Amino acid sequence: MSSIELLNATEIRELAARAGIRPTKQLGQNFVLDGGTVRKIVRQADVLPGDRVVEVGPGLGSLTLGLLEAGADVVAVEIDPVLGRLLPTTVLAHVPGLSLVPAVSDDDPVVLRDADGRDRLTIVLRDALEVRALPGPPPVALVANLPYNVSVPVLLTFLERFDSLERVLVMVQAEVADRLAAPPGSRTYGVPSAKAAWYASARRTATVGRTVFWPAPNVDSALVRFDRREPPVATASRAEVFAVVDSAFAQRRKMLRSALAGLAGSPEAAVAAIEAAGIDPQARGEVVDIAAFARIAAALAAQPGRVVS
Ligand code: SAM
Repeated sequence: MSSIELLNATEIRELAARAGIRPTKQLGQNFVLDGGTVRKIVRQADVLPGDRVVEVGPGLGSLTLGLLEAGADVVAVEIDPVLGRLLPTTVLAHVPGLSLVPAVSDDDPVVLRDADGRDRLTIVLRDALEVRALPGPPPVALVANLPYNVSVPVLLTFLERFDSLERVLVMVQAEVADRLAAPPGSRTYGVPSAKAAWYASARRTATVGRTVFWPAPNVDSALVRFDRREPPVATASRAEVFAVVDSAFAQRRKMLRSALAGLAGSPEAAVAAIEAAGIDPQARGEVVDIAAFARIAAALAAQPGRVVS
């Protein structure tokens, strides 16, 4: 690990003032002021030197510097062009031995390379939800302080699109962390928990208070760690399984047999598929795990006369 000075509260405020940045709620811009929190995130992500890590929303660079300090090569996806353009200057000032790779065209990502020719930081100026391919080697980890309003879609989209991701450590709103890590049968188990479970096991690892951010958000945050695993064995596609999950939770208090009637084409077809999957049709979605949702989707897909869209 090289010694890199992380951003502190004074520097973050100065950087923002100099660049005329006024953090917006709309883009979930709450910047981490505290090096201890940054290092905790990096530690809990098990980042090793040479790991290719994707960070969504580098902002002013607090976590980016922590990842670089741990020896990761970072590809950072930032939607805000003002922040994305400021980042190379900040990183060059904090990490010795890097230089800017001259871009050939305007569309090229900004790259900072070390003396050994390793691309240590690649900056992609895009909405993360629109990113379908990333430059450079495939990332093994997603490590991010996610913008609150899009945290679940960003997480699920990245797990879907980048199957090289073996582990994920994200900071999200505390309630969202609870939902993501909730097991079946718990009060907070729902669509995000079931869909995340398709890709990975999830564990809420720490609570983070409001004072480590500027500006301070009006909610607490938490860290969630995901470890990729094989999806449940099913003859139905992921999209078919997720359609069952969406229908099962569309009206939370409904029993599965009525919640899935529309999707199945009739209440009878729903009951047949749920029973074929070994589930009680009177159960509610909140007690069904992702493997059982996959079996229901497979049973639905196998029903005679069913048109697969
Ligand atoms: N990583 C920095 C930190 O820890 O201080 C900033 C985290 S801040 C909570 C979220 C960041 O995500 C902001 O920089 C914001 O501009 C960026 N962002 C918001 N929506 C985004 C999107 N759809 N795609 C990529 N970045 C996004």
